[in-house]
Parts: sequence; C-alpha cells; structure tokens
Amino acid sequence: MKLIANLLLAAMLSISLSACAEGHSTAENTQSESIITTAENMLSEVSETVGTSNSSQNAETDGNIGVFDLDKGTVMLNSGYEMPILGIGTYRLSQEQAENSVYWALRDGYRLIDTARIYGNEEGVGKGIRRAIEDGFVTREEIFVTTKMWTSDYDDGEAAIDASLKRLGLDYIDLMILHHSQPENDVEAYQAMEAAVNDGKLRSIGLSNYYEPEDFDRLVNATEIAPALLQNETHPYHQSGIMKEHLAKYSTVMESWFPLGGRGNTQRLFEDETISSIAEVHEKTSAQIILRWHLQAGNIAIPGSSNEAHIQENYEIFDFGLTESEMEQMTALERDERFASY
Ligand code: NAD
Repeated sequence: MKLIANLLLAAMLSISLSACAEGHSTAENTQSESIITTAENMLSEVSETVGTSNSSQNAETDGNIGVFDLDKGTVMLNSGYEMPILGIGTYRLSQEQAENSVYWALRDGYRLIDTARIYGNEEGVGKGIRRAIEDGFVTREEIFVTTKMWTSDYDDGEAAIDASLKRLGLDYIDLMILHHSQPENDVEAYQAMEAAVNDGKLRSIGLSNYYEPEDFDRLVNATEIAPALLQNETHPYHQSGIMKEHLAKYSTVMESWFPLGGRGNTQRLFEDETISSIAEVHEKTSAQIILRWHLQAGNIAIPGSSNEAHIQENYEIFDFGLTESEMEQMTALERDERFASY
C-alpha cells in the first residue's frame, strides 16, 4: 500500500521532463511507436504471469512503466517518476571537468546526469547544474540527477545521503543507487535509502553491479521498495540479457555503464565491422549507432566524456532509427565479454 501511495503522490507531483527531448525529429515516429507497443505487450505479459511482488502492483497501476518513449527521450520508472534515457556520465572526471561537462550537456539538451560519491566530483557536478540553471538552460525540476552510495558508507547510509546532498548542493536527489553488491550490509544501506524516500530526500532508488538474479533477489526480498533501476556494465559485447529478463518481473529498468565500452575499449567497438558499416549507412558515427542501439534495446545510456564535441555528438541520436534488421545485427554481436573486472 505504501508503495502505491508513493506512486500516486509521485504521479500527482508529475515531474515533467517532456522538455527533455523537445525538438527531436518525429521522422521515426512509426518505428518508435512500434517499439513502444512491443515493449508494452511484453510488460503486460510479464505482469500477467508474475505473481505478486513488491513491484508487480506498479505495473498494473500504470501500463507505461518501463516503456521507453524514444520521441520524448524518457522512461516511466516503477517509482512513478519520469527519467531521461540518455545522460552524461562523469566517471574519471575531475571537479572542473565534471562542472564543464555537465554544463555543456545541459546546454545541449541532456537532462540526466550520473555521478557517484567515489568519483570525487559531486561538487563539480553541482556547480555545473547551478551554472546551467543561472544561464536559463534548465530548471531544477527538468533535470534528473543520479548519484551512488559507495560500499564503505553502507553502515551509515543516512549520513552518506546527507553528505551527497550537501556536496551536490541539492535539496533532493532524483535517483540514488548502491554502487556495488555487498551482502554483509547492502540491505541496511538500501533501507537507509528507503527511509530517505519517505523523508523526501530521494525520489527513486536502485542498484548497481548486481550480476546474478539470485543476488538481486536477495536484496529485493529483504526490502520494501523495488529498485527503479539497475546500472550494470552493458554494451554490444555484453548485452545483459539474463538480467534484463529478470528485471522485467519488477518493472526495473537497465541502465548501461560503459555504454561505449569504457575508456581504453571504445575503439574495439567503434571499429567493429557491423557497427561501423551501420554507421556508414546512416552517416552517423559508431558512437551514435551504439547509443541509439542502447535506447532501442531498452537500456538507459550515460556515455562519459569531458570533450565538448563528443558530448554534443552523443546527444544527436534522436533524428534517426535503426531498422529491425540492424537491431538484429547488433544483437548478434553479443559475446558475454565484460571489459571491467568489478
Ligand atoms: P563510456 O563507455 O561512456 O566511454 C567513455 C570513453 O569514451 C571516454 O574515453 C570518452 O572520452 C570516450 N567517448 C565518449 N564519447 C565519445 C565519442 N562520441 N567519440 C569518441 N570517444 C568518445 O565509459 P564510462 O564513461 O566509463 O561509462 C559511462 C558512465 O557510466 C560513467 O561516466 C559513469 O557515470 C558510469 N559508470 C558507472 C559504473 C558503476 O560501477 N556503476 C562504472 C563505470 C562507469
């Protein structure tokens, strides 16, 4: 009941992120609609076949949950909040780089920002957000800020949440996720995030780096609010199919870290024959093809960059679409190969 009440409250607050993708071409409307319809069908099948869980009620409440709207550039989370599906990642960026990247991204149309306590750049991210607000590019309500609780903070989650809020200079965080599975105390850390949802400090909560359905369920079964999102290493060579199928039971969405393969690995993906030949057909870069694939495959993507031109390039993926056959070719690239060892 509490969950439904939260959902209704969130719906009433109705965060409008529709400005997020204003101006995107509608040339691919038909294709987008068919993707949405397929996803809706899959979702309704899931909610019919799965028994009651702490989140399947959500799927019944709103048929749009988990459906990627490629025209608006958003997805409705099981928490009742709308989230942009393409964002800027800030891993390995200094405070100053993070400030600039976030500022450029918000100027270019991005509305989603991903940071983490362990990146050491939450203050820079906050500064970039404030600069973009001051310059009139966005309002606080139009943007969606994600940060992560680091594992050494799990014993005092409340303090970790307050510290992130302070560093970011925000009075609420749109999404906070646990950075890694840590069976000895991740349930307590997650419960601290649940309490912060009730206190209005966090809007949605989720997980990162849970690679086994059993591990995901261990936490979900011990807590109340179903994770809105799971952020795992996901790219064309590691498509996370098993976890995505599992997440559908909870209307939890997948978010890809290392969407382009990560620093040091991007060239392997960019030079992949399938990817580069699709890029040639669409007169786009390999990076744009990979990012478009993520969105059409139902993965939120947060490419990282401190390069102004790359940041702009990575957002220019709403004016074309991959055909069914191109999506199939991309799916065929799966080789269960992770680039990171954590
Ligand atoms: P990524 O796959 O986004 O690749 C980043 C690399 O690609 C950088 O070297 C960047 O310079 C380059 N690049 C970006 N756009 C390009 C373009 N258009 N052309 C050529 N090169 C381009 O890897 P990432 O940044 O590590 O991951 C994305 C985000 O995911 C991170 O920034 C971070 O926010 C998050 N992340 C989370 C975890 C986790 O454990 N939860 C781990 C890693 C990253």
